[in-house]
Amino acid sequence: MKLGDRKWDAVVVGGGPGGSTAAALLADVGRKVLVIDREHFPRFHIGESLLPCGNAVLRRLGIYDRLEAEGFVRKFGVDFMPSSSVGMVRVNFAEFFPEAEQPGPAFNVERSRFDDLLLENARSRGATVVTGASAKTFREHEDHVEVEITEGETTHRVTAPWLIDASGLGHFVGKALKLPRVELGVSPKIVCFGYFKGVYRSEGRESGHVGIVRFDHGWFWFIPISDELTSVGMVRHLSEAKANASSMEELFAQALIELPEIRFRMKRAEQVGELRKVSDYTTRYKTVAGRRHFIVGDAANFIDPIFSSGVMLAFKSAALAADLLNGKKAFTAPLTPSEQRTYQQSIFRDADTLLPMIKAFYDQRGFEVFMNPHSAPKIFAAMGRLLAGKLDPTFPDRMRIQGFYLATWLQRYTKVAPRIPLQ
Ligand SMILES: Cc1cc2nc3c(=O)[nH]c(=O)nc-3n(C[C@H](O)[C@H](O)[C@H](O)COP(=O)(O)OP(=O)(O)OC[C@H]3O[C@@H](n4cnc5c(N)ncnc54)[C@H](O)[C@@H]3O)c2cc1C
Repeated sequence: MKLGDRKWDAVVVGGGPGGSTAAALLADVGRKVLVIDREHFPRFHIGESLLPCGNAVLRRLGIYDRLEAEGFVRKFGVDFMPSSSVGMVRVNFAEFFPEAEQPGPAFNVERSRFDDLLLENARSRGATVVTGASAKTFREHEDHVEVEITEGETTHRVTAPWLIDASGLGHFVGKALKLPRVELGVSPKIVCFGYFKGVYRSEGRESGHVGIVRFDHGWFWFIPISDELTSVGMVRHLSEAKANASSMEELFAQALIELPEIRFRMKRAEQVGELRKVSDYTTRYKTVAGRRHFIVGDAANFIDPIFSSGVMLAFKSAALAADLLNGKKAFTAPLTPSEQRTYQQSIFRDADTLLPMIKAFYDQRGFEVFMNPHSAPKIFAAMGRLLAGKLDPTFPDRMRIQGFYLATWLQRYTKVAPRIPLQ
């Protein structure tokens, strides 16, 4: 297909959750959208646990009911545990919402299948999808953008009034425009992860719960992604892992022996496929919208995987970008500085609501306070809503969450909550 000969309304770089959401919502109102992805789908991707408050976008895309029909694992909550196996805090999302505001269960997804479904959905709504095609360069002109795309031996020069960068950690626009980054005060991490059969899981409704096990240098995730398979990942501080003489694979194997909670969960586990690694993924660009482009999802901002917010944030930012374009009086008029600000403030506000909670989790004192929910049930409920992905807390909830941060700070100097030994 000669992509350069066609007239496009928008070029979307990246066919992950962000790209396919933006493409579907633009195609819905008749826009001619080209989505390209450098990979062929279905392709592997990390990020398998979704949040209930992301369901709104899935319903808008007409995908939510299909996830259950297609056998994706329903996730009603998250279980937090210390590696020393001294207790568990169970977050059941439904408990924290009144009947009328129940978001419904979230899902754990094998991303290859999930992303393929989303991209097919965009295609079925009218977007043109080309996989195995890589965006190479980008220039923003007064009235259009120009993107150079390579597909095998072929080079396409494509123009459109709009570019949506949904390239995830590929950071297409960030790199092309050499955008400055924002320092978020989060230490770089490294992750080693793989799939296992026979991992311990709870029974019944809780069988789809994600397990988070905190140890002294990081944490493990346990995400049931099918009846058989569990995704297991170990996250550590990059500096600590680098200083350690052992490789990440060796540290992973060591944790299976040395950490009681991990040992218990992995007693009958059998590895399926290879262990993979990823590191140093935290990024935020200073500007994530320009006169003729939006940067959505991870390509704009990604902090940390701990609360499984990445896909939801990609959905929300992509839907916002599409809605802003669809709502414009003159579709081809460039984004005004105020429109750019509206977009940027909204997506950073969402991420910033989670940022201090992420930092508190990595702070052992914060973790200790979090693991003692019964002393302040209203604070715990406010945090439960936040962990479900409700990133616009009410004023009372904001005060309760501040109460948690205050308790975390006090825990350094006095015993607000019992100390928890971490190994
Ligand atoms: C260790 C780890 C664990 C995580 N766990 C979770 C989790 O449990 N739950 C959760 O919600 N999130 C999780 N995330 C985050 C989640 O993976 C991302 O937030 C999410 O995938 C973002 O979606 P996206 O559409 O922005 O980008 P992506 O899903 O990364 O999609 C980007 C696409 O762009 C394509 N691309 C890149 N560059 C180019 C180019 N130049 N040309 C063409 N195509 C290009 C890529 O091939 C890719 O398909 C995790 C992240 C990490 C690092």
